[in-house]
Amino acid sequence: MARVRVESLRKEYDVGTVVAVDGLDLEIGDGEFVTVVGPSGCGKTTTLRMLAGLEEPTSGRIEIGDEDVTDVHAKNRDVAMVFQNYALYPHKTVFENMAFGLRMSTDLDAEEREQRVVETAEMMDIAELLEDKPDELSGGQKQRVALGRAIVREPDLFLFDEPLSNLDAKLRTTMRAEIQRLQDELGITSVYVTHDQHEAMTMGDRIVILSDGELQQQGAPTDVYENPTNKFVGGFIGSPSMNFIDVSVEQVAGGLRLDDSDGNFSFTLSAAYATANDAALGRGRYTLGIRPESISIADSQSQNAISAGVDVVEPVGSDNFLHLDIGPEFIARVPSDVTLEAGDEITITFDESDIHLFDAD
Ligand code: ADP
Ligand code: MG
Repeated sequence: MARVRVESLRKEYDVGTVVAVDGLDLEIGDGEFVTVVGPSGCGKTTTLRMLAGLEEPTSGRIEIGDEDVTDVHAKNRDVAMVFQNYALYPHKTVFENMAFGLRMSTDLDAEEREQRVVETAEMMDIAELLEDKPDELSGGQKQRVALGRAIVREPDLFLFDEPLSNLDAKLRTTMRAEIQRLQDELGITSVYVTHDQHEAMTMGDRIVILSDGELQQQGAPTDVYENPTNKFVGGFIGSPSMNFIDVSVEQVAGGLRLDDSDGNFSFTLSAAYATANDAALGRGRYTLGIRPESISIADSQSQNAISAGVDVVEPVGSDNFLHLDIGPEFIARVPSDVTLEAGDEITITFDESDIHLFDAD
């Protein structure tokens, strides 16, 4: 087991024309399970490959345990990586696939190796597959073998690169729970990369959000959800995505008023809110963010009521997603027992405590 420290890590490709990772600083505690999330191309795989030693950083430093491994070859790092496409050796049996890494990385004798493989296979529920070749296995079984092959080595650090992306939704849910259970039992420091914010939020002790090779925010999943520090994070975390509207802020009697430039939207914040939130907040332009689940249907007479036309009602089981026209489109998530249909004119509101104000673009 080991803690990991990444300092000013940078990776350029094609002589600097592509900056895949742009000065990343990260600290991962011993035994911690960290998820790294961001859109396709934001540098997740490159970061993992540098941790594994499969890619050489352009600059920066990587420590695993107390050792500076920046210049240490992959095979001399005690790291196991699980890939999206499983990366099993097609001509080897499951047993041989699992034993191979052990032979490379440990000095166990044949009998001890066999015992470790069999024990791990039992733990992963793949003992009956040990003599099979990968092409005889289902996608879910292949991924269990890939996990087993990583676990059997008892590495210092687990790296997962979107390991569940090729599985169907139901199997993905099962495997998520299983990976968490295994990690919990084994206590091995883990970095789990995914483009799926839901997966990142449900699995991570801590979530690290990347965009364009740069760290946007990190923290406990609920903390990031409740306090996104910029518009990118606000929009990326949560589903359906946060609604945004550009507003100007003006001081009025008893508080602050937010208005959009088209006169569709006006909302008054209390003086207490303004004082509590940001001394600098007082004038200028901001982007207001409000989550679909923070919007409620209001009486047209209530304070801060906003008129909205219902464009689409999208039922998703216990809730409906309402596509609303308030000038720009807003999405609201309301209980499905609120009966509405397209064409209805309603008024909505939200609590000032649910508002996020970001620097305007
Ligand atoms: P992610 O895993 O988040 O989708 P990657 O780390 O694979 O992102 O890629 C980050 C950026 O680096 C992308 O713009 C990608 O096109 C580029 N990139 C990745 N690998 C290479 C490579 N071997 N050569 C050139 N560009 C690359
Ligand atoms: Mg990737």
